[in-house]
Amino acid sequence: MKNNMLKKYSLLGIITLLLLSVVAGCNSTSKTATEQKTAQRPIIIQGPMPIEAENFAKRLENVKEEKSGDFVFYIGTLDNYPVIVAKTGKGMENTAAATAVAIEKFNPIAIINQGTSGGHDPSLNVFDIVLGKRTVNIGSLKTADKAENQGIDPTIWKPMDLMASEGSAGEDPNAEKPRFYEGDKDLLAAANAVKDKYTKGKVVEGTIGSADVWNNEVDRIKWFHTKYGTSVEEMEGASAAQIAKAYDVPFLGIRVLSNNKVNGGKYNPNTAAANQEYVYEVVKKYITTLPSK
Ligand code: SAH
Repeated sequence: MKNNMLKKYSLLGIITLLLLSVVAGCNSTSKTATEQKTAQRPIIIQGPMPIEAENFAKRLENVKEEKSGDFVFYIGTLDNYPVIVAKTGKGMENTAAATAVAIEKFNPIAIINQGTSGGHDPSLNVFDIVLGKRTVNIGSLKTADKAENQGIDPTIWKPMDLMASEGSAGEDPNAEKPRFYEGDKDLLAAANAVKDKYTKGKVVEGTIGSADVWNNEVDRIKWFHTKYGTSVEEMEGASAAQIAKAYDVPFLGIRVLSNNKVNGGKYNPNTAAANQEYVYEVVKKYITTLPSK
């Protein structure tokens, strides 16, 4: 009887040990799988128009195309690391949605929003590139209080920070300021490290302003340049930055000047390809800095 009990217990012990080692085995396999997954998190490169996305997409290897709504994702590799080019379409809404979809679908390690822009800084010329140390929504504004027949006065409109609180931005004096999204420091470091590879213009750090507006009034452009410190304007960056921040994904805007109204710089669509060549170098560099590489 005693012997039998002992036998039973040692059998139980062996089974428990076996079970434990299976569980441990499972754990270590799933850990490696998770580590593998983390190591494989893709870098997303966004471009609004075909001329701002397709050049980069062509340079990827092992490309597979996937569509979600109007958004096209070119899923491929660069130096054996997963990189996805997203053609988002123009404007803030397309870009915000394409960013959220991409984050949910692909769990990216970083997002670069890139393309053309219009200069706000007179010292920047067509083909110069701005690295978005900061990105800001310049379409989010609160007008003055005026009664009927008192007119419209855009120069006294105030910036409105929609992220200041969950309450009414129209009533909240704390919301009367621009919301700046910081460019990720590792992405910025990678971009600065390869700036000498770009020979078509200079590469500077600056502030990118975004809205669904194309500003052609020089005085209005100057107003933004003074009030927000904008270097350039475009129609996407701040919406991607806002969504990237919501999900805590590192983000950087990289914009080439395709035009500059304040110094007479005429629109040149070839700037879009030049920017993608530079961003390609930035991504190559960034990949070498990732711990998984
Ligand atoms: N001028 C082009 C249309 C560009 S539409 C044409 O006629 O074909 C706007 C796109 O260009 C947006 O994706 C925006 O990010 C970018 N852009 C370039 N310069 C801009 C500027 N000065 N103001 C606003 N967006 C600009």
